[in-house]
Amino acid sequence: MTNPHRIVEVSAITGFLTIEAFLAWRVCQAAQGLDWCSVGLGLLAGYIAADFMSGLIHWGFDRYGTVNTPIVGQHYVKPFREHHVDEKAMTLHDFVETNGNNSVATSIVLLPALAVPLHTGATISLFAVPMLAGLALAVFGTNQFHKWSHVDQPPAIVAFLQRAHLILGVQHHQVHHTPPFDRYYCITTGWLNPVLDKLRFFARLEGVVLALTGVRAGEDDSRQTRHTQL
Ligand SMILES: [Zn+2]
Ligand SMILES: [Zn+2]
Repeated sequence: MTNPHRIVEVSAITGFLTIEAFLAWRVCQAAQGLDWCSVGLGLLAGYIAADFMSGLIHWGFDRYGTVNTPIVGQHYVKPFREHHVDEKAMTLHDFVETNGNNSVATSIVLLPALAVPLHTGATISLFAVPMLAGLALAVFGTNQFHKWSHVDQPPAIVAFLQRAHLILGVQHHQVHHTPPFDRYYCITTGWLNPVLDKLRFFARLEGVVLALTGVRAGEDDSRQTRHTQL
């Protein structure tokens, strides 16, 4: 019998790709001449924003909470921590397992974009809608890009995209997998990793969280033998 969760995942992926295709059609109908610059810039902005979001979410679940934290512990904290122990396990997941959960969130993010009026000359809309669509598409691709960075022999086109730095690179991502696992959290393209690392962005953010809440990053983790046993 088919797993009900898998039906939800397949439906979410189908729904998400349908919304993306519909938005692409609307943008193509409306964009003409100079508007294509707005579309291109919007897509690029969305792609960069997705890399930042991937880092922020990855950092949060790596550094805070435990597998026993209510709601997020089992579904989010656990997979991120387990991934440090066994980085190859995710390569065994098929396309639906890899992308199903993400599609639920990205479909919800995309829904407001359907309501934005699009017509020729609507420059702001022709930047904003592609940005949202690009962001959602890149967030959708993040798990897949991350998985490919751990595959021993990815398809040739994937290896090309990795070498061209258009998706997360293999060597680049290994910086994160070097103990103590506290650098290079971005896993869409990794473009922002060197910048955020130079700025000590996440270390500073942990200082802000500590000052505001009294919660120290990695504190709960150290109580349960961090990154070695779950
Ligand atoms: Zn991690
Ligand atoms: Zn990884």
